[in-house]
Amino acid sequence: MNFKIYLDNNATTKVDSEVLNAMLPYLKEEYGNPSSTYSFGRKLKEEINKARNNIARLLNGNPKDIIFTSCGSESNVTAIMSAIRSNPNKKHIITTKVEHASIMETMKYLESIGYAVTYLSVDKYGKLDLNELKRSIKNDTCLLSIMMANNEIGNIYPIKEIALLAHENNILIHTDAVQAFGKIKIDVKDLDVDFLSISGHKINAPKGIGALYIKDSSKFNSLIFGHQENNRRGGTENVPYIIGLGKASELILNDNFNKEKEIESLRNYMEEEIKKNIDDIYIYGDLESRTPNTSSIAFKGVKADELMLLLESFNIFVSTGSACNSELALPSHVLVACNADLDNYSPIRISLGRYNTKEEVDFFVKRLISVIERLRIKQWMILSIY
Ligand code: PLP
Repeated sequence: MNFKIYLDNNATTKVDSEVLNAMLPYLKEEYGNPSSTYSFGRKLKEEINKARNNIARLLNGNPKDIIFTSCGSESNVTAIMSAIRSNPNKKHIITTKVEHASIMETMKYLESIGYAVTYLSVDKYGKLDLNELKRSIKNDTCLLSIMMANNEIGNIYPIKEIALLAHENNILIHTDAVQAFGKIKIDVKDLDVDFLSISGHKINAPKGIGALYIKDSSKFNSLIFGHQENNRRGGTENVPYIIGLGKASELILNDNFNKEKEIESLRNYMEEEIKKNIDDIYIYGDLESRTPNTSSIAFKGVKADELMLLLESFNIFVSTGSACNSELALPSHVLVACNADLDNYSPIRISLGRYNTKEEVDFFVKRLISVIERLRIKQWMILSIY
């Protein structure tokens, strides 16, 4: 199958060919171990540090404050476990109801060993109420873990304000920036967060590589013990993938987020075309503060899973929720938290990436119009029988 329109870039992205080319020598000739003392291995340390530099520049951080991990999930778990272990007498954590599974499952585990967790609610637009956050802070709160951007509806949360609140109350702040990194500008100095997680495969680097920003390594507790990454993360470095993540970051830096502006215009154009041609739609999320590529959109009376399957028959790929929980066939916890009327308005998530074109969007919208018409007629016939 050659022809396909891939509109699920929040799930994962295609590896950029420049990224792949940068990685290849490290999968072939340059296979040394960076910890070796001879030059064949040792020189790889320099390449790893170049990649670290690119990520640091994209975060306006210091390269020494970044460690490589195996994925965004590992970065999230590492940050949370480090924070709680540096505050052993504090047993309360605050997070939100719309976090990624890697956060939610860690919180469940922590509850099972005696921690109290407050899950902040969101309104119907997926927005947080900072007054609820203020009210939730207790004397023994050790950590706030709040995502920077949501994977399903794209909401961008006010992390700078949240970090200020955390520090005023002597609480550590972690943010899962997996869906924000590379899509919006991030400045860790300005945000003043203690931990920030990123992942390679959302920015056209491969799956299986992530990084964690750690503001103060003197208070950091490792999850995987060992000497690499300055004693902060054991395991022989995944050199080719680290190089890939560094290259993908460099491409974004060189482009100065212009591609993201183009993606945002394409997303807005797509939504306008859909609105012009299809009645009774609803777009989820905070339309004033969303990642530039994401659209969570529902068509009254149309079931998102049926819609997704019909689109698939045209080789158009969208998702009905986050890829991480779509296998479970449960309603998305994010949409449930938004109190979404899923019987009438169940959304598909369209997430654009750097390779999508206007022609693809036009083709998609054309097919979408006919598919929605078909599904609505079918729905109308079923209702008229009963
Ligand atoms: N956090 C968010 C918001 C995500 O969307 C994802 C991936 O979907 C992750 C964390 C996990 O990243 P990874 O797949 O690299 O573990």
